[in-house]
Amino acid sequence: MSQQATTQVHGHYIGGEWTDDSSTSHSEEAEHFESRNPATGESLATFQRGTADDVDATLEAAEGAFEEWRSLSYIDRAEYLWDIYHELRERHDELGEIVSKECGKEISEGKADVTEAWHMVEWAAGNARHPHGDVVPSEVAGKDAYMRRKPRGVIGCITPWNFPVAIPFWHMAIALVEGNTVVWKPAEQTPWCGQIIAEMFEDAGIPDGVFNMVQGYGDAGAAITDDDRVDTVLFTGSAEVGHEISGKVGGEAGKLAACEMGGKNGIVVTEAADLDVAVHSAIMSSFKTTGQRCVSSERLIVHTDVYDEFKARFVDIAEDIAVGDPLAEDTFMGPVIEADHVEKIRRHNELAVEEGGEVLVDRFELGEDEIPDGHGDGTATAGDGERTDGFANGHWVGPFVYEIDYESDLRCLNEECFGPHVALVEYDGDIDRALEIHNDTPYGLAGAIISEDYRQLNAFRDRAEIGLAYANLPCIGAEVQLPFGGVKKSGNGYPSAREAIEAVTERTAWTINNADDIE
Ligand code: NAD
Repeated sequence: MSQQATTQVHGHYIGGEWTDDSSTSHSEEAEHFESRNPATGESLATFQRGTADDVDATLEAAEGAFEEWRSLSYIDRAEYLWDIYHELRERHDELGEIVSKECGKEISEGKADVTEAWHMVEWAAGNARHPHGDVVPSEVAGKDAYMRRKPRGVIGCITPWNFPVAIPFWHMAIALVEGNTVVWKPAEQTPWCGQIIAEMFEDAGIPDGVFNMVQGYGDAGAAITDDDRVDTVLFTGSAEVGHEISGKVGGEAGKLAACEMGGKNGIVVTEAADLDVAVHSAIMSSFKTTGQRCVSSERLIVHTDVYDEFKARFVDIAEDIAVGDPLAEDTFMGPVIEADHVEKIRRHNELAVEEGGEVLVDRFELGEDEIPDGHGDGTATAGDGERTDGFANGHWVGPFVYEIDYESDLRCLNEECFGPHVALVEYDGDIDRALEIHNDTPYGLAGAIISEDYRQLNAFRDRAEIGLAYANLPCIGAEVQLPFGGVKKSGNGYPSAREAIEAVTERTAWTINNADDIE
């Protein structure tokens, strides 16, 4: 599929074939849905909406392909992924632009999504040449004991819209190299990226049925997670859906779910912080991707000795952040993903005020001169000339910053907003007090500490209740060779990166008797 919007209805990729409205799994009334550019509201392409019948067909294809696929060597399976790796690198800029158009990330982040995808594919395919399993000393001379891994079977992958290229590969590259077959449902907001990834698997010539994609909404996702033919569900998305999935799947014998979910992430700025690092880290963590990253920070917990200076500098920058055309190089924040999300952010901003928050920056309703001008072609930025219809239908919101006295049960400090919405919380005392506030949320995904005191860094590393901890850095990056996951309400197993191997393989304890007689 090219960069141009088309009038064609795009189908699912099932058993090596593309479906269309006359395919057997569709009635004449096959439902369609659109991919829309969140900056302009324009339709980018039309897709079939997956039904339970479509999911049934994908699972049949995936089950049918499993035995042959698992019988290939790791290295042969990885060869298909290497083709995709090269394509991701060659088409890096073009795909980055598509990511920006479809999910509204500013262009450097759109490209970074593609970079992260090829990092993951490189790691998973490269890992095919690394040891899998362990040789273990036996208690008995003459016996050899091993732990060997084998694929689990059919892996159902359900992914969110905010990293529409990277996260699918974080799930699927490992699952496939380990010898599983895959049924994947992209997010309903980013089917265009889904289509392109499926085309890459087709171009790589992966055997029919090994990789399958069904487009659609949560009902198609639920049809995947609920089916007994799925051996492992890998899910990344909201806590609401993730906990529903782990609740259902966790109760079924022999079936696994690994779910990565949201966060209410915090940055601790201590009295020993370098404030340049602190302000930069907080701005990047709170507003990049318009606050729509699972690791975005919505709580800034700042020591009283540096609070006033930090606040003044942070607010100054937040007042000026450029919201605009995601394709323009000087944009810092693009639009949010959809109209419902604007309303969700509005409710969170209002809640903060109801609970006693003092508003420091309120750019939720952007002024006429702040909403981007132009036709969504990447040539205009906020504030240039007269506003036209190009961006008038986009989903624009600006930064919202408030300060609030810490209390344990405030909803605004406990519930994920997933937008450019951030609280400043002043604390007095030592690192124990900072950690007490930091850890007081039901979530436990990511967090950062900004401090030049190594004792404070070590205390945070050891006692912050999170899976991803950063020191003197924005709470933003992810490296595929590290585990990526959270604790508490944020995570239940690892569907992504290195640790996903545990969710997509079974272990066999293999003991061989080499002696002439049996003891
Ligand atoms: P979402 O939970 O609404 O949707 C995620 C996927 O689940 C979509 O493909 C959706 O169609 C599907 N889905 C919805 N209902 C389902 C159901 N009942 N059964 C099966 N599948 C279903 O999340 P979203 O809005 O796409 O993404 C935003 C959320 O994802 C935020 O909470 C964010 O923090 C989280 N997220 C987490 C990580 C992480 O690694 N921890 C990464 C990115 C995003």
